[in-house]
Amino acid sequence: CGIVGYLGYRDAYPILIKGLKRLEYRGYDSAGIAIHNGKEIHYYKKKGKVSDLESISDVAPHDGKMGIAHTRWATHGEPSDTNSHPHTSQSGNLFLIHNGIIENFHSIKEALLSRGFKFYSETDTEVLVNLIEDIQQAEDCSLEMAVRQALNQVIGAYAICVFDKRNPNEIVVAKMGSPLVIGLAPDEYFIASDATPFLEYTKKVVYLQDGEMALIKKGAPLVIKEISTNLPI
Ligand code: GLU
Repeated sequence: CGIVGYLGYRDAYPILIKGLKRLEYRGYDSAGIAIHNGKEIHYYKKKGKVSDLESISDVAPHDGKMGIAHTRWATHGEPSDTNSHPHTSQSGNLFLIHNGIIENFHSIKEALLSRGFKFYSETDTEVLVNLIEDIQQAEDCSLEMAVRQALNQVIGAYAICVFDKRNPNEIVVAKMGSPLVIGLAPDEYFIASDATPFLEYTKKVVYLQDGEMALIKKGAPLVIKEISTNLPI
């Protein structure tokens, strides 16, 4: 029930883990993290406490300056390692964390199954990440365009962070019903469910509004757009 993200010049791991701990008060049953070091992804998830996740990730490679992390409060699918976030798309390219509920996930899942997608978890979230991938592949469009089109098919509540492992310099976020805050500092971005994970780094905070999405890109100013608009982000 918490999300944290980082894109900048510092090691993401301590910021993300500390951030998850600051969001522990929101309640959760599992935790996970994906960090991109420019070449590969370090990806760990675990049922239980953030400290259970740390018992794996502390002793495994976790370098990288960009990453996302999640604490889950299960709504679809029991608390388990597999159902924990981040979820990946079928190709393994997209990594996504989500707080909230995708209410029409069942019909979207049926459509994706008929197009050959496979699912490994029982979550609504895995349906969303594969819907984004399906659109990205069919339309050959940017990640943010695929996210926008996917979210326009979705009914429910969400705060999401998603990245494509082929592009370590970019995170796309969106909000409807669940909280999402972006912290801005020179050459770095912070993302979280509330500002407590990053207040020690910056006081410059943007509260994303319902129906908004943002493109968070290294070396570029923050771009915020309506999810429902047709204009390119
Ligand atoms: N509905 C998603 C799940 O059950 C996200 C739950 C949450 O907000 O943590 O995995």
